[in-house]
Amino acid sequence: MLTIGVDIGGTKVAAGVVDDNGEIVEHTLRPTAADQPDVVAETVADVVRELSRGRDVEAVGVGAAGFVDETRSVVRFAPNLAWREEPLQKKISDLVGLPVVIENDANAMAWGETRFGAGRGQSHVVCLTLGTGIGGGIVIDGALYRGRWGMGAELGHMQVVPDGRVCGCGNIGCWEQYASGQALVKEAREIAARQPERAEILLGLAGGRIEGEEVTEAARLGDKVSLAAFRSLADWLGQGMADLAAVLDPGCFIVGGGVSRAADLFLDEAREVFARQLTGHGHRPLAEIRLAELGASAGVVGAADLARRR
Ligand SMILES: [Zn+2]
Repeated sequence: MLTIGVDIGGTKVAAGVVDDNGEIVEHTLRPTAADQPDVVAETVADVVRELSRGRDVEAVGVGAAGFVDETRSVVRFAPNLAWREEPLQKKISDLVGLPVVIENDANAMAWGETRFGAGRGQSHVVCLTLGTGIGGGIVIDGALYRGRWGMGAELGHMQVVPDGRVCGCGNIGCWEQYASGQALVKEAREIAARQPERAEILLGLAGGRIEGEEVTEAARLGDKVSLAAFRSLADWLGQGMADLAAVLDPGCFIVGGGVSRAADLFLDEAREVFARQLTGHGHRPLAEIRLAELGASAGVVGAADLARRR
């Protein structure tokens, strides 16, 4: 059976026709009109028409970067798109004439990785997508955990530092301000401002504007401040996973997102912090911490599979 998975992010709409094995048969990409909800729905309808031409497509799954309600049809709010109480499921299904399932984008990614990526065969999974923020997805007993109102697994917004950095969600000191790509850059900028003599390589590469790529490259060249920023990320990540394991006791964590491309600079250290900080450590099995395998297509593959199982 073929279904279409669509991943609506703040800047682009990615979509693919996906078969039963989670393989993408054909793929397409469009820019997102983030400030125009009707145009976003039209864009989704347009990619669905394009991808279903000459094919028998059964349903459409949509991963949306926002708070999706418990009926999986309305996006209540989105930080980076103009969705407020947006009836996305109805709009798209009216346009394409196919069954449509809406899911939070991080949940769709977690589901894709669990079914067809790094979490294959696992029944209890916590997926962390480290990008600008932290996207979270939780699989319990082989099913996505959504919470009572569909708003569960916003793992990046647990407060870890009272009076800490201001978060995009409006709160203070959220985890994603300390263990995401944006956090890495902030940390490097802060330390470099205090101790420029330890950041010679980084400042030389960045030419005044420090971004994630420069921090990664400088760390690989031995820049002390960049390495310290990665150590900070590893500490916060490992501690956060230990806290999540105290609540959820997963069999595995999956770490993905853009930052995971630099996993060689932080993941082993995060594993050590996790093992050390885990409550009851030494008397319980250690959850595996795995790198995501599907990259940017996890959301498309996951949304398509959720549509198949609707
Ligand atoms: Zn927050």
